Amino acid sequence: MKITSITLWQKSLPLAKPYWLSGGRLKFEVLDSTFVRIDTDEGISGWGEGCPWGHTYLPAHGPGVRAGIETMASSILGLDPRQTGPINHQMDLALPGHLYAKAPIDIACWDIAGQAAELPIGELLGGRYPEPIPVASSISTGTPREMLADIERYRTHGYRVHSAKVGADALQDIERIRFLEAHREPDEVVFYDVNRAWTRAEAVTVMNAVSDLPVTFEQPCETLDDCLAVRRVTSHPMAIDERLDTLNDMTRIVSDRIAELINIKINRVGGLTRAARIRDLALAHGIGISVMPTGGTVLADTDAIQFAQTIPDPYRLRVWSCQDMITVDPAPGRGARVKDGLLAAPEAPGLGVAPDEQWLGEPVAAYSLKRT
Ligand code: MG
Repeated sequence: MKITSITLWQKSLPLAKPYWLSGGRLKFEVLDSTFVRIDTDEGISGWGEGCPWGHTYLPAHGPGVRAGIETMASSILGLDPRQTGPINHQMDLALPGHLYAKAPIDIACWDIAGQAAELPIGELLGGRYPEPIPVASSISTGTPREMLADIERYRTHGYRVHSAKVGADALQDIERIRFLEAHREPDEVVFYDVNRAWTRAEAVTVMNAVSDLPVTFEQPCETLDDCLAVRRVTSHPMAIDERLDTLNDMTRIVSDRIAELINIKINRVGGLTRAARIRDLALAHGIGISVMPTGGTVLADTDAIQFAQTIPDPYRLRVWSCQDMITVDPAPGRGARVKDGLLAAPEAPGLGVAPDEQWLGEPVAAYSLKRT
């Protein structure tokens, strides 16, 4: 089987409401998403979506996905898409780094491999544990009462896991955390996600001020060095999110004992092939894993849950879903859909969902194998 063409579409995904992150320093209103279709000489096509969370959240942006694919396209045309190791190796030779641009290619290749094998992607990634996984709400930074109102709204839809965004001001954060913990229901879990906003001093101040509470903090500071310094003088479990890009980062998290938990964002780490390597190293060291799309539509949610269901209990923590935060839907009613705060992968072979091409409109680029 050979890759014969790679076609790209660009779509803007408006958020249902503006979203504030990292203590209010980052605001998001629309996401720039790239949809990738890979065609083969055997008539099987695969889909992948590449959607960074805006251009200020991480060193990744929508136009970069498309420019990266343009640079790499000639190196992967003609290759067998089922050979995801060699495909990723060729992408690395053509363009070092730029993992977020490689992710949709990698996912589309897994979609093809799954369809060819007549198995869902999760089965090819080591096999799925079938239970659905809790979806975490995403609670934008606000006053304690505003944040609780947001949690209560999610509760009515069945959500029991919440990701509360803090990091706006150390003293106010202590108040937010104490207030939300006082109103947390016994079967609920709240992750306090700082999205890198605290200085080391702020992190130590807040975390030690709530040392009596059984809570988990996520990415308190900017770098792994910062997080390690904070880890050494605090007692809460810590998760690394934005600073886990590569297997080498995961190796450092393990060897320096920086975190007990990680977040794998499929787009950020470069797709499913690399996500699986990070997963296996984390599991070997008893580290819990949350899996998420970085942003995007039901396509991104579906690749994330395909992967998340390969993680066994008790190390599978939660997923996140972007589909209800945006106002458009490329595949209404299809793919992985949040039900009662839970998500499970579709049973169809491959990714299990494809977008309506009518919704996508005209492609913005196409690269084809030259016939010889
Ligand atoms: Mg996070």
